[in-house]
Amino acid sequence: MDVQAQRPPLLEVKRNFELKTTLVKASSRLPLPGTRLKRGPDQMEDALEPAKKRTRGLGAVTKIDRARPRGALSTVSQTQGPAAAPKGPKKTGLRGCTTVGPVLKNQKPAPAVPAQKPGTSAAPMVVGKRPGKRPAWDLKGQLCDISEELRRYREKTQKLDQENHGLQEQLKEAQEQAEALGTERNTLKGELASVRTQAEQSQQKLDNLCVRVLELEECLGTKDRLIQELQREQLELQEERKALATRLEEQERRLQASEAALSSSEAELACLRQRTAAQATSLAEQADRLHGLEMERRRLHNQLQELKGNIRVFCRVRPVLAGEPTPSPGFLLFPHGPAGPSDPPTRLSLSRSDDRRSTLTGAPAPTTRHDFSFDRVFPPGSKQEEVFEEISMLVQSALDGYPVCIFAYGQTGSGKTFTMEGGPGGDPQLEGLIPRALRHLFSVAQEMTGQGWAYSFVASYVEIYNETVRDLLATGARKGQGSECEIRRAGPGSEELTVTNARYVPVSCEKEVEALLQLARQNRAVARTAQNERSSRSHSVFQLQISGEHAARGLQCGAPLNLVDLAGSERLDPGLTLGPGERDRLRETQAINSSLSTLGLVIMALSNKESHVPYRNSKLTYLLQNSLGGSAKMLMFVNISPLEENVSESLNSLRFASKVNQCVIGTAQANKK
Ligand code: ADP
Ligand code: MG
Repeated sequence: MDVQAQRPPLLEVKRNFELKTTLVKASSRLPLPGTRLKRGPDQMEDALEPAKKRTRGLGAVTKIDRARPRGALSTVSQTQGPAAAPKGPKKTGLRGCTTVGPVLKNQKPAPAVPAQKPGTSAAPMVVGKRPGKRPAWDLKGQLCDISEELRRYREKTQKLDQENHGLQEQLKEAQEQAEALGTERNTLKGELASVRTQAEQSQQKLDNLCVRVLELEECLGTKDRLIQELQREQLELQEERKALATRLEEQERRLQASEAALSSSEAELACLRQRTAAQATSLAEQADRLHGLEMERRRLHNQLQELKGNIRVFCRVRPVLAGEPTPSPGFLLFPHGPAGPSDPPTRLSLSRSDDRRSTLTGAPAPTTRHDFSFDRVFPPGSKQEEVFEEISMLVQSALDGYPVCIFAYGQTGSGKTFTMEGGPGGDPQLEGLIPRALRHLFSVAQEMTGQGWAYSFVASYVEIYNETVRDLLATGARKGQGSECEIRRAGPGSEELTVTNARYVPVSCEKEVEALLQLARQNRAVARTAQNERSSRSHSVFQLQISGEHAARGLQCGAPLNLVDLAGSERLDPGLTLGPGERDRLRETQAINSSLSTLGLVIMALSNKESHVPYRNSKLTYLLQNSLGGSAKMLMFVNISPLEENVSESLNSLRFASKVNQCVIGTAQANKK
């Protein structure tokens, strides 16, 4: 914006101010600088005095008086001062005095009275035409004239006196006025000074205002730019607002559509809620039913197990290994069941030639057939998976709260460890019962969480060698050697048994179990070097304590699953003469036989419902006390070597197993709380 264009109003203000100042000055009755009265009131009187004197003495005054009417003194006063002013309003007279100066100055001076000749009477010349001159002789006439003239003069004098008197009064008045004017002038001077000060201040203010105006103009310039920018911004904002309004409309349309969809969804939701509620009710009913069914399943499962027998015996014959002599055909036979080849084999027939009779008679050795019947017989080709399938139901009984004990019985090399832990090389196909059973338990426990059951598992693995218990899960300094452990009750009055110094490791997945089995193998390997063939002469007991809880129904169940790889059941050949180093071996064998026969005796005592069960006669039966007997389920694998050379031991094992198989132990009860 042009700053100059803005100025005029402000300059106008300034000019007005100056004009006002001038008017103030002009309206003041004081003379302006340079037009100041040259005489004060006192001087005015002085100025009047000569006029008076002149009036008395000069004929010109008389002439004027005569020529003009009375009161024309005001005209005289114009030339001679305030004293000659006519009587009238005082103010006018006074004003006349103040304005005299400039008028006198500007007016042309009155024509000068011609100079008077010395020694001549001025009166006849000034007064006018005289009557014709009387002859010198006419003295009387002259006297008359003179008397006449004298009279006129007297009259004139009288008039002049009166006039003089009036003038004096006027003078007095004028003096008073002059005094008043002096006072007024002083007052006005003061006022003037204050007005000047004010004017200066105003000027100062004006200057400041000018500066301020400039600043404001500058500011205004900035503001103009700002305004322009703001206008631009405003335009942009307007555009934006338009765009937003369009978007808003769009959104509103969409919102309306959404609201419509929402209301329909809400209706649908309400409908779904109703259905959900109905389903929740039905779900709860079904959960109840499921729980009832689960309980029924457990009951039936248990009943089935009972029908199968709480103590069962499976016979497993290992295959002939590479490098081993092939047994004669018909040495081991596996007759079909009544249903034919599809029927799982339960019988085994073993032929034994009577060598002693043949040497005596010289005839071919007669063979004696020994038939055995078990709950199930696994011929040499049976797979690990097949074997596990048969026991998986039994393993599940442990989850239902029934203590389970699975033994592998047989001579050394008959395949007990293979059955329990698995084959060498970590081949999953060759995995034994322990890893398979645990995997099965973890999986079923996981499924049971859906029904509100929560399970936990704690594993331990001990070895009973020569009636001493050692921890197979020992680590660190105790690794391999294993400090001696004792079997103790878990607490005063507690039925539960625990092994002191043994590790109880919580497990929840296969990997953890595999790590424990690996650790046990290492510990056994170390022990084997320290003592020859120790592993075959010791019992390995893998115990898994299972605890289940159904928090919602306040149910708890817990039972141990025992997987026992028994020591070799072989006996010392009574015909052998023992060397000094074999005395220890004899003792070991006796211990093994003792503990195995104690196991047999315990089973018999339980079967016969004897009042005393000799659990304490061996560490093994003592440790398994809670898993043998009334509330427990037991399965014994009798592992048989396919070799003819092992026929004697095989027969012994089969006879022992048969005895066990004939046992019927009382109704099992789940450990439920
Ligand atoms: P034990 O533990 O009774 O002394 P092992 O389990 O150590 O006997 O078995 C002896 C040998 O026979 C091992 O080399 C093992 O791999 C092998 N073996 C045992 N049972 C089987 C089987 N069912 N299939 C293949 N090999 C087997
Ligand atoms: Mg073994």
